[in-house]
Amino acid sequence: MTNSTFITEILQKLVQINSVNPDLAHDGPGEKEISVFIKQILEELDIPVELDEIAPGRVNVIGRIKGAGGGASLMLNAHTDTVGVEGMEEPFSGRIEGNRLYGRGSYDMKGGIAAMLGAAKLVKDSGEKLKGDLILTFVADEEYESIGASELVKKISADAAIVTEPTDLNLCPAHRGFGIFTITTTGKTAHGGRHKEGIDANLMMGKLLSKLSDHSDQLPKNNVHNLCGEASLHVPLISGGRSLFIYSNECTINVERRTLPGETLDGVTSKLQELIDDLTNENEHFKASLECDIWRNPYESDDSSGLFSICKQTSKTVLGNEPGIIGHTWWEDSAIFGEAGIDTIILGPTGAGIHEEVEWVDLKSVETLSKILFSTAKNFCGLSEAE
Ligand SMILES: [Zn+2]
Repeated sequence: MTNSTFITEILQKLVQINSVNPDLAHDGPGEKEISVFIKQILEELDIPVELDEIAPGRVNVIGRIKGAGGGASLMLNAHTDTVGVEGMEEPFSGRIEGNRLYGRGSYDMKGGIAAMLGAAKLVKDSGEKLKGDLILTFVADEEYESIGASELVKKISADAAIVTEPTDLNLCPAHRGFGIFTITTTGKTAHGGRHKEGIDANLMMGKLLSKLSDHSDQLPKNNVHNLCGEASLHVPLISGGRSLFIYSNECTINVERRTLPGETLDGVTSKLQELIDDLTNENEHFKASLECDIWRNPYESDDSSGLFSICKQTSKTVLGNEPGIIGHTWWEDSAIFGEAGIDTIILGPTGAGIHEEVEWVDLKSVETLSKILFSTAKNFCGLSEAE
């Protein structure tokens, strides 16, 4: 079977298997069925593989093409879960039209999974033996809490990793992080007719919102990264007060802060606290608390492993032109691998419709990606002479 047919058939099956994250949609089945399917494919390629059930129904797959020794190890990685399918006409059809394969997860990121399996087949078919290990990992739950990647780094290490999230065949060595904060202002309840007794927590929050609005205008101007663009802040949720005719006792907002490589939890928290402290000093009735609920670090590869340089070269050879270099504005599992000391870059196929109602991946780009991954593995892990 040609690699192109192999990849297309596998990708169609991968899309037809529903692997919606159960934490994002109550009827989402999770990653078990798709993991068993991937395990079968690896076994058919004669690649040792194990399933790791990290929580009920939530599964990581780990395959390993053992090297002959003396070379660097490379991990290829993809997540197997998808977001929900609300509003989609045919989420699990895997319909092919021209070069496009349609369905939920086709682009984010079952195309990446198929390319990884295609690269594994190319390694096996070539008869060449790598020096370092090529580790194929397929993890659960990237779309929610990343329990898959978090568990994986406790068990697996590698000298470098490629996450095959969509990049349209550009190289992505950096992405933004984010923090979600809760800020609560406290007022004093009173009958609506007793303005001398009540303190309105909602109006107090208004003062803070005005400062946050100025901060949100300034952030993108003052914080720019050459690949990831601008830092940003917005307030996705707000709630305050109990009823008409009562001074609001409490108002709560969530602040979503998108960070650039180099920004830290301490730095971002201090800036928000400073805005609160300014108001506390200006107004004796202003009282507010700040908490960080979720924090995900931004990421940037320093090319310490040499993977980025190698990948640039192999991409150029396969593509016939210099690959584009980009940053992602959203967060990915690569940050978890980077924090675990695994130098990581992101390189994935071409398509459209991430988390949207019509999603597709370009089949040709998936095949091209498998060739780049194969060539990168040979160059990074090294080829053994003893065959
Ligand atoms: Zn993804």
